[in-house]
Amino acid sequence: MSGPVLTRTVAELRSELTRLVAERDAHSVGLVPTMGALHQGHAALMRAARADAPVVCASLFVNPLQFESPLDLELYPRDLDADMALFGSEGVDLVFAPEVEEMYPSYPDSPIVRVSSGHMGQILEGASRPGHFDGVATVVSKLFNIFDPEGPARLRAYFGQKDAQQLMIVRRLVADLDFPVTIVPVPTQREESGLAMSSRNLLLTESHRQAATALSEALFALRDRAAAGEDWNLAALRRQVRDADEVILDYLEVVDPGTLLPTSRTPALALIAAYVGGVRLIDNIEIPGP
Ligand code: AMP
Repeated sequence: MSGPVLTRTVAELRSELTRLVAERDAHSVGLVPTMGALHQGHAALMRAARADAPVVCASLFVNPLQFESPLDLELYPRDLDADMALFGSEGVDLVFAPEVEEMYPSYPDSPIVRVSSGHMGQILEGASRPGHFDGVATVVSKLFNIFDPEGPARLRAYFGQKDAQQLMIVRRLVADLDFPVTIVPVPTQREESGLAMSSRNLLLTESHRQAATALSEALFALRDRAAAGEDWNLAALRRQVRDADEVILDYLEVVDPGTLLPTSRTPALALIAAYVGGVRLIDNIEIPGP
């Protein structure tokens, strides 16, 4: 079996996409946007796309616009060969892996026109990473335009619930700017330890990887307390995470899943962010209603 077609420019991508859609008489195209350093979380998105769409595409682009720290951008893990192998084994047809100048011709200057993620992009992750979600909204808008299959085929884009705030902002982006794209959420994939899979886990030492389970443990405890009808005692859980070795808590919040504003009611979403060995990790869990 031949592997996915690798394209580097928008023109190449569009021409291959048009060819594949026509060849398969495809009614829909699945798109999995990624920043590479792929793992089984990404694979779950690809499998969901494969199950729905006759043509499956992925993008691989470490988007500088969503990194507020140049060091974080530089250290972000990259491995094109391993990524192409995983795309191939998950049946991805077409990969778009542009150089940064292809996406942003004025780079390192920012593009003049960017997409604002509004107030939703300024809280939680956005409060600690100013500009991050505007960078996400801008690159996702570009990808939706680049992958627009035109004609009768519809674009479906797959996003992980692991990045819950990002998923919400992408949904708002589609609604507010009328992108003809269906957003499909995919549940968070976890290691056996409970740790949410992430490309950034590659940057953790073994002891940091163990310490990082403090994040999911706090979320599971919250969910279990809520399910048992107990007070979820956020302050005590925050203390517990702060007391874990090598973990620096940024936030642990329970929010309304529609507004991302703090709530004491269910259904809710619990979100956590912390640095473990200097690596920023995020996770979240849904807290079902009564
Ligand atoms: P990234 O490459 O980190 O930008 O992630 C690309 C996509 O994969 C995003 O939609 C993420 O939410 C999703 N993703 C990352 N990790 C996971 C995970 N552990 N489970 C499910 N989806 C994930």
